[in-house]
Amino acid sequence: MKPPPFDYARAESIDEAVALLARHEGGAKLLAGGQSLMPMLNFRLVRPDLLVDVNRIPGLAGIEERDGALRIGALTRHRQLEVSETVGGRFPMLRAAVRHVAHLAIRNRGTLGGSLAHADPAAELPMMSLLLDARIEIHGPTGPRRIAARELFRSALTTDLAETEMLTRVELPFLPPGTGWGFEEVARRAGDFALAASAATVTLAADGRVAQARLAVMGAHDTPLRVPAAEALLTGEAPDRDPVEAAARAARDAVEPFDDLHASADFRRHLVAALARRALESAARRAQGAVG
Ligand code: FAD
Repeated sequence: MKPPPFDYARAESIDEAVALLARHEGGAKLLAGGQSLMPMLNFRLVRPDLLVDVNRIPGLAGIEERDGALRIGALTRHRQLEVSETVGGRFPMLRAAVRHVAHLAIRNRGTLGGSLAHADPAAELPMMSLLLDARIEIHGPTGPRRIAARELFRSALTTDLAETEMLTRVELPFLPPGTGWGFEEVARRAGDFALAASAATVTLAADGRVAQARLAVMGAHDTPLRVPAAEALLTGEAPDRDPVEAAARAARDAVEPFDDLHASADFRRHLVAALARRALESAARRAQGAVG
């Protein structure tokens, strides 16, 4: 299919992009990597009057360490996250996750900001932003604001962003030393959207008990989810089989999956439990230094 007709403008700055969005009052859409927007245009799921291309805005892409956090510009491509030594060193779980995003050609164009703003419930980066307690910087007509990732995702393909706002940067606070991680995903074929996935971090205290656990799941709910009930079950415990199994069951109970042509709700619930258990086991093993 071909897209409906639209006008095109190339913004030279964040302010110009936001001003164009405001002027068109919901009739304009930002164009980043175009890997979700173009299919939606072609299927006529969206019909904007204007596309505002943000690809030439200086300083919107890039990865830097500052003030105890990794700052990642919204226009940073998935591929940049995948090959960045800084990302691999600080957040190896993010590199592991981004390798599951689509195929290389799509990762070359798709952006972090586009993925978070699009908010597909089966997308890896929204789940990772929740897991890593990301802070999200947003610019709108009244200036910048910052929210936590947990405030961003409202429902499938719906976020806290107003139609006149632009997501400009993601900040990931560094993790405590000795934190282990796990990432697990099931998709029908490599590069497909996930049927379900889970990611975890485990930080151990000197006595070997869990000082902090984080667990996130996606693909089985209308948004990615953190699972505080599972995290509470692990905190203060040795990361052994019983508390890990209990946490995985809590993850399974937290999701409200749906039947679709790819999988039944029951199968997705089963996957969530299995993937959460594996992600937590990997995170615990890494935290114990058993694997690199
Ligand atoms: P665009 O397509 O340019 O924009 C998407 C939406 O976000 C639009 O509404 C746009 O207006 C808005 N937007 C873009 N940037 C901003 C911003 N800075 N602020 C506010 N709003 C903004 N993704 C996965 O996570 N996992 C997968 O397995 C996966 N598989 C895919 C397979 C195929 C065949 C395709 C075509 C895509 C797949 N994707 C997958 C989607 C891909 O990751 C997209 O790149 C991503 O979802 C959107 O990023 P983008 O930069 O291309 O955004």
